Amino acid sequence: MCGTCGCAAGPVLTLLTPGERSHHDHDHEHHDHEHHDHDAPAAGRTVVLQQKVLAKNDEIAVANRRWLADRGILAVNLMSSPGSGKTTLLERTARELAGELPVAVIEGDQETALDAERIQAAGSRVVQINTGTGCHLDAAMVAHALRDLEPPPRSIVVIENVGNLVCPALFDLGEAARVVLASVTEGADKPRKYPHMFRHADLVLLNKTDLLPYVEFDPQRYADELRQVSPGALLLELSATTGDGVLPWYDWLRAGALAHA
Ligand code: MG
Ligand code: ZN
Repeated sequence: MCGTCGCAAGPVLTLLTPGERSHHDHDHEHHDHEHHDHDAPAAGRTVVLQQKVLAKNDEIAVANRRWLADRGILAVNLMSSPGSGKTTLLERTARELAGELPVAVIEGDQETALDAERIQAAGSRVVQINTGTGCHLDAAMVAHALRDLEPPPRSIVVIENVGNLVCPALFDLGEAARVVLASVTEGADKPRKYPHMFRHADLVLLNKTDLLPYVEFDPQRYADELRQVSPGALLLELSATTGDGVLPWYDWLRAGALAHA
């Protein structure tokens, strides 16, 4: 993980040795001025900076949560690796819940507004955040995006995080629920390989079930692996492409929206 984005608070710190900087510091531009310290001498200093970044993030996340609660809005932090189908799922969800439950979207990508254009075409309000070299969304980005988005009261805001199973797990955005989208093309061992991402998931969606006949993927093994890491997470299987299995996902959103309205 990267010292660049300040996301390395935790087990990652074992990778930093005194007198050395994370190799990411050499490879990437800094997008956070608090990290603009090319003379950071040791792991200890890196740790302190990273803890400060996360503590500040958590403060802003608390404010976001209050802002959302005041408006009766359900906010969902949707995370996955790149290519799992987040945008495809949101296109279908926005279209099929239109007229019943407004779904607005905050899109996080390093570059382009391609996904925002797809969501807009599906009829939803959408704000695109481009993170540049950053590999996750943070609470401050979401605070700005929410003001621009102006989601209606008692609606749903889905925050489509940057495709990455690693550091998005560490950044509270002020969401009410965390959803991890996985797909049958990724391998059933992902929950154990990326436990931080799955441990705090409220819901795990297993996507692309239409491809099951063509891939080596055992849904039962996936369910077992997930249960080991996150016994409380709900698991739903669906295909965002065909629409198979999406109704329980809509019911989950309806129940959440009702609980937060
Ligand atoms: Mg996307
Ligand atoms: Zn990151």
